Amino acid sequence: MNKNQIKKIEFLPISVPANNWSLDTCIVKITDEAGRYGIGEADGDPNVLTAFANANSQHKWWQKLTDILIGHDPIEFDANWDLMYESTRWIGMRSFALFAISGIDIALYDLAGKQHDVPVYKLMGGAFRDKVTPYFTLYPNCPSNADPEVALEAYKPLFAKAKEKKIKATKICLMQDSVMTKEQAVNYIRECRKMVGNDIDMMIDPLYRWTDWEEVKWILNELEDVNLYFAEATLPHDDLEGHRKLSQSVKTRICGMEMGTSRFEAEQWLKYSGVSIIQPDYNRCGGLTELRRISHMAEQYSVQVSPHHWKTGITAAAARHFHINNKYTKYVEYLHPDFYDGEVRKNLTTNEVPIIDGYLEKPHLPGLGIDINREYYKKITGKDFDN
Ligand code: MG
Repeated sequence: MNKNQIKKIEFLPISVPANNWSLDTCIVKITDEAGRYGIGEADGDPNVLTAFANANSQHKWWQKLTDILIGHDPIEFDANWDLMYESTRWIGMRSFALFAISGIDIALYDLAGKQHDVPVYKLMGGAFRDKVTPYFTLYPNCPSNADPEVALEAYKPLFAKAKEKKIKATKICLMQDSVMTKEQAVNYIRECRKMVGNDIDMMIDPLYRWTDWEEVKWILNELEDVNLYFAEATLPHDDLEGHRKLSQSVKTRICGMEMGTSRFEAEQWLKYSGVSIIQPDYNRCGGLTELRRISHMAEQYSVQVSPHHWKTGITAAAARHFHINNKYTKYVEYLHPDFYDGEVRKNLTTNEVPIIDGYLEKPHLPGLGIDINREYYKKITGKDFDN
């Protein structure tokens, strides 16, 4: 028997109460015949994901996801990915199936890295840079419907810390439930730029508040002197034609696809939307294998791939390896505990990487280079991670 063969795939739901964005996640643990394990994570309701992954096989295109790769070799990433995708096409294709496959795929990289004693970025094709350059999305600590003045005040300590940590780029948000006129939005972004200063690249996330591309054009043209690095989530997610018209009308880079899955959706964005950056998420779009395929395709279109990043230290580790392997993307989004106090992000994993002069070091440990914090896992699930 080959000791590298996959013996068991488990979905381990994590559910923790939160008051703004969800902290829930679903750990994927893959164990090989030698007892080594890899970890990944999938976004989406953790109990639904777990039920989906364990749904009993019905026929060739409706296979139990946690059984499909048993006996396979983790390092055969592309073959494993296609087998999972094709074996769940009847109940899958997009959404939860891709979220679940993402979690398995990330765990396969971690396990294969440990088996072959190499960091994940080497398995992805190697290093194109010697350190990770993150951008940090900053959410002010105030209610989601706070007035702009309240949010601006709440931003002050975050921007102060951003300067202290010498970060290279930050993304500011227009609070998701606040109502703003277009003039107020312009003023809010301008005030943020004054506080951030001109030495840090600044991006904006208006959280899908506009529907009229002409209105967004007006706003971004008003802000030309503010020199935004990019604007994401400006228009409804699936309005590719609106993104195209907007991209052709403004000097600011336009982004999209943060909720998109698979290289097939990415292809639509690359062909039709005209955006400068696409943002498929590590734990939703299909994992690192699919991101690698998307990145290669994006190069042909001269588009950067800066994945949406949320969840725990597992996805954060995936982000570090992704950026080391990515040739053309200047910044990757990064959720760091220094700027975000969600307890699962802070506590679930070991080997947190410090921000040094705004950068994160190139990973050097085998696999993803992290592990599960046993004590915290037991505290929130009541279970032992090793059994
Ligand atoms: Mg976003």
